Amino acid sequence: MKLGFNEATCMKRSSVEDDLRLCEKYGYDYIELRLDMLKKYFAKNTIKDLQSFFGSSRLKPYAFNSIEDINFCDSSRWDTLRALFTFGCETAQAVGNPYLVVVPTMGEDMHLKTKKEVFDDSVEVLDRLADIAMPYGVKLAFEPIGDKRWCVRSLDQALEIIEAVNRDDVGLVLDSINLFLYNRLEDIDSIDKVPLEKIFVYHIDDCEDLPLGTLDHCHRLFPGDGVIPLETISQKLHAKGYDGICSVELFRPEYWEIDPETVIKTASEKAKRFL
Ligand code: ZN
Repeated sequence: MKLGFNEATCMKRSSVEDDLRLCEKYGYDYIELRLDMLKKYFAKNTIKDLQSFFGSSRLKPYAFNSIEDINFCDSSRWDTLRALFTFGCETAQAVGNPYLVVVPTMGEDMHLKTKKEVFDDSVEVLDRLADIAMPYGVKLAFEPIGDKRWCVRSLDQALEIIEAVNRDDVGLVLDSINLFLYNRLEDIDSIDKVPLEKIFVYHIDDCEDLPLGTLDHCHRLFPGDGVIPLETISQKLHAKGYDGICSVELFRPEYWEIDPETVIKTASEKAKRFL
């Protein structure tokens, strides 16, 4: 697999400019830029600056993160979402970034929705978003999040949804902690059921050994420092023939306090054994 860096990892102290420079320096193949950080970048820079960086670097853009809370939108929420999504598509097309990550809706009441309500809404909204993205040549990577606050939690549920959408430009993000947050990966063999061509992105992260309900994104750790069976996940992805991005994505406040260069260097060293 190819080494990737997701900008969530250093987002409180870093910037697009610094992440680009440091990821190039420490041998990453790909970067996943964040839309909120790109907006800040464009306050001082132009699209030509970004094109010129990628034109002369080994590092390439892969997936923008992320369009969140895509389900059950009212019309005002949909307008906001569509505007951000369109900004993502335009920028992606301009710099040759193939994917946009889309995330199901989070809320304390999401567990009250029936599986059918979530399925029907997800299929419809993914199809609508893919229609918008198509002229830009951008594909959607849909990311299930295992915790019960999110409406699409398991890999099986997400796979069923994207199979119903049935488009080449809609696939999945597999994220190790998001898989683990659903039953602590008891159903790890569900990875085997995902067709290779539907794995658009792999986010790698480890986590502390905490009970479900307590375990959260702030407990993410560098790959290899926690309890997620990352070697087994890598083996399963290799067995499938997956050779795409393996992108370090950490939302750990403790790491946000550390100098981004140290985090980016450490993440590259720790992730390499799982490629
Ligand atoms: Zn992720």
